[in-house]
Amino acid sequence: MTTAQPDMRGSARINNPDVIIAGAGPTGLMLAGELALGGAQVVVLERLEARTGQSKALNLQPRSAEVLAARGLLDDLLAIAPARLPRGHFAGIHLDYSQLPTPYPYQVGIPQARVEERLAEWSLSLGAKILYGVGVDAFTEDNSGVTVNGMRARFLVGCDGARSTVRRQSGIDFPGRDGRLCALVADVTLAGGGPSEWTLPAPKGDGLLTVLPLGEGVFRVLAAGPAQMAAGRDDPVPDSEITEALGRDGLALDQVRWASRFTDASRQAARYRAGNVFLAGDAAHIHSPAGGQGLNLGLQDAFTLGWKMAEVLRGESPSSLLDTYESERHPVAARVLQSTRAQGVLMVPDEDVTALREVFAELADSHALAMRMAGLDYGRRLPGLDLALLRDGRRHVVDTPDGPVDVRPDGFIG
Ligand SMILES: Cc1cc2nc3c(=O)[nH]c(=O)nc-3n(C[C@H](O)[C@H](O)[C@H](O)COP(=O)(O)OP(=O)(O)OC[C@H]3O[C@@H](n4cnc5c(N)ncnc54)[C@H](O)[C@@H]3O)c2cc1C
Repeated sequence: MTTAQPDMRGSARINNPDVIIAGAGPTGLMLAGELALGGAQVVVLERLEARTGQSKALNLQPRSAEVLAARGLLDDLLAIAPARLPRGHFAGIHLDYSQLPTPYPYQVGIPQARVEERLAEWSLSLGAKILYGVGVDAFTEDNSGVTVNGMRARFLVGCDGARSTVRRQSGIDFPGRDGRLCALVADVTLAGGGPSEWTLPAPKGDGLLTVLPLGEGVFRVLAAGPAQMAAGRDDPVPDSEITEALGRDGLALDQVRWASRFTDASRQAARYRAGNVFLAGDAAHIHSPAGGQGLNLGLQDAFTLGWKMAEVLRGESPSSLLDTYESERHPVAARVLQSTRAQGVLMVPDEDVTALREVFAELADSHALAMRMAGLDYGRRLPGLDLALLRDGRRHVVDTPDGPVDVRPDGFIG
């Protein structure tokens, strides 16, 4: 696997692609690969001059592992993943994944940047173009397509993250609420070492501290407490704040690689489509990282939209198929927003809330909750389906003891 920075500016003449994607995060890159696999001409426009190499997300849920395996991308990632966790969590309540009905009954612990690198390599190998240092600032849309930066395409997909320009310019509402909780995230080295195992977050004292080994002496720090709550989302993170947070677990800071803040703002696009413009990933939904869902949702949005859009572009399905992208994916993200909001409440460091969480843990159907967090609670699945069959991104008919079954390019019965 390479980590090359593909910069196509000046080296690729791009005439009228089928699809322009705004944003080369995990969602945009997954979509680019899916569309290219389906035979579409794709251009990704990325505002950044180069990839940062930083990782917000650190995990693949079981459904995302299936998605990547279906395209032959998982093995390379498993080979470099620092952890495989046979469990997930809901507000720090452990959920057993080992009995889930999937070939991948675990979370793959892997930094987002490694997933992005593999997706970029794959989409480029299939003929997609990625242009770095080119933002989408304005576009026009009409009945037959879109015009972006002077380039004409049939469709534009906004995979341009939480502050999506595409979403704002297409006039799609983004209802929900602003953040109430603020926390810090940092990648650091530690003086005197740190934990060797990945552990799941749990409230502790007057806040929350999670420290995870990422390999090569680097640790991920997630901290929430009074100092973080008093800070603003865009305030810089002084080293002293990280030192103080680590001190709660008796750990000592060496150096900070990068640090930032995040909130539990919770919003979802009212529509995922406006004419020939679509939204996917964080451009369509934002929520707290509780339970590790955001990147996973984006990959799965792209997986669903990709094959549908490719079929429409090949003339094999009517354009109305594209309306089913929203009807399929909007409810999935709405449930994630619901569960992250619930987790936010259950993780408030307060004795009464701790009692509530303990009662909830006793009463909850932990298998159903695990299925939900794993992303396995939607879609009509064919038990025992060989995911290698899906490598070509096309529909298949599979013989079963009950007769032939139509399987979609994403593995669901349909
Ligand atoms: C602290 C933290 C921890 C997290 N942990 C997890 C986790 O463990 N598991 C999980 O699943 N999720 C996690 N998430 C969420 C996850 O990181 C996001 O959901 C994911 O990055 C969304 O991917 P995306 O491609 O939709 O958007 P982004 O990753 O935001 O990518 C959008 C891209 O679009 C580019 N862009 C923006 N505007 C434009 C424009 N106008 N034109 C062109 N390009 C543009 C940006 O530069 C960027 O490269 C976490 C988030 C945070 C903040």
